[in-house]
Amino acid sequence: NSASLGGPELAEPHLGSVLSAAGLDAEYVRAEGNTLYLRDEDGQEIPVLDFVGGFGSLILGHNHPEIIRYAKELLDGQTPVHAQFSRHPYANRAAAVLDRIVRRETGTDEPFYAVFANTGAEAVEAAVKHAEFDRFRKVSALGEEIDAHIEAARAAVRAGEAAVADGAADIEDLIAEVVRHNAGQLSRPPLFLTPEGSFHGKLVGSVQLTHNPAFRVPFKALAAQARFIPLDQPEQIAKVVEGERGVLLDLVTEGGSVTVVERAFPVFCAFVLEPVQGEGGIHVVGEEFAREVQRVCAEIDCPVVVDEIQSGMGRSGAFLASSLVGLRGDYYTLAKSLGGGIAKTSVTLIRESRYCKDFELVHSSTFAKDAFSTLIALKVLELLEAGDGAAYRTVAERGERLREALEEVRAEFPGVVKEVRGRGLMLGVEFHDQSQSASEVIAGVSQAGFLGYTVAGHVLRAHRIRLFPTGSAVNTLRLEPSLYLTDDEIGRLCTALRGACALIRDADGEALVRP
Ligand code: PMP
Repeated sequence: NSASLGGPELAEPHLGSVLSAAGLDAEYVRAEGNTLYLRDEDGQEIPVLDFVGGFGSLILGHNHPEIIRYAKELLDGQTPVHAQFSRHPYANRAAAVLDRIVRRETGTDEPFYAVFANTGAEAVEAAVKHAEFDRFRKVSALGEEIDAHIEAARAAVRAGEAAVADGAADIEDLIAEVVRHNAGQLSRPPLFLTPEGSFHGKLVGSVQLTHNPAFRVPFKALAAQARFIPLDQPEQIAKVVEGERGVLLDLVTEGGSVTVVERAFPVFCAFVLEPVQGEGGIHVVGEEFAREVQRVCAEIDCPVVVDEIQSGMGRSGAFLASSLVGLRGDYYTLAKSLGGGIAKTSVTLIRESRYCKDFELVHSSTFAKDAFSTLIALKVLELLEAGDGAAYRTVAERGERLREALEEVRAEFPGVVKEVRGRGLMLGVEFHDQSQSASEVIAGVSQAGFLGYTVAGHVLRAHRIRLFPTGSAVNTLRLEPSLYLTDDEIGRLCTALRGACALIRDADGEALVRP
């Protein structure tokens, strides 16, 4: 590590010491498929079986030979990587392939436009920013329409052609009241809807859609707020919407009288959700919840942003996990495996009927849509789509096999493993809380929220297997291996988990944390 090189530790040293406390501060020197390699004191490589899979970015494994070969070819061919504001036929090809796949899976004829970005959070922010661009235009148009109606009413009254209905008020008083009311509504910041447990990134805007208060709350003042809906209470969606409902007042001049009418004010910018929550602990969105999202959003004309950054790119057994639960998005975000494990790239797909073409003139990034990453993304899509989607079928089959094996472990240790859940190769193993363990060590780490990390540290030391809990649900281990997962690798994982579960069941905390 850097300390052994003699320099100061300046790249997030505190995080390094937290990892070190759990015995997770390994330095990997090489990676291939589902394996990372450590080097021991004698310079020998030690293989570590990787079930973290780059936090879901390695559906094709580490350093896939076909992707590496292609990347070398691009570099050897002096591909112009950064030629911004020129024609980008490769990005256009990637967009066309993405459009074809999304339309096939969601059964729609409507095209999707692609805005490329660099990271997952950036793709979410592009979606949210585009949705706000759209909402702003809608609100502006509504405001202009109302202004014109006000002028028409004033002119009609002055000309003696109309009077305020019910003889209630003087037209100027009425207009002042309408303008005051509308100004109050128009100054409201937009709101987002998203389920509890959501994770949509850690940038200024996206972190407000990330439920975990430790990540979100200190930065509340920086961006628009979300209303969080419990995933098991779809009926709450309509209630929250009703609670935040706002109206603009408009004037209608008709048949000689001026009346006040209400116009719905679009306060909700977007409903943003993951079809399978990743960092929130691997929770699959239910079909009933998906249906209610769709119903309420259609009613208030609120766009649905489906965040497939972790669940997409085939990980669920389909290209889009949302297609399996009947969830249809106006926007889709993809990242992680889109870069094939070597490029950093992401994309926001936007349905044509929602697409604002002027957004292209106000949003960009130096690094987005570059030749290297979009060509790598095309190669990834080619590999996933080959053989009529053989990769998706493999993910579904491997995922089923892995889930069955994990269910056997759960059945053997019902007091330790609470649940196995997920879809395809995006599975979670949740542990029961162990705060009441007879082992002081186990009770202590459990109370501190470190049980998942402690199990991961043990499994790394004792079994040379890399595991991690999800970002916000720390008692749930995430399993996101590549689609090349073998039966032997599943067997090794289960042996390791049985070992850790037995120590927890037997309250042998010393053995669990022994270096
Ligand atoms: N959305 C989801 C669903 C994610 O899982 C993640 C990353 N875990 C992000 C957004 C943010 O992606 P990134 O870390 O690339 O910014």
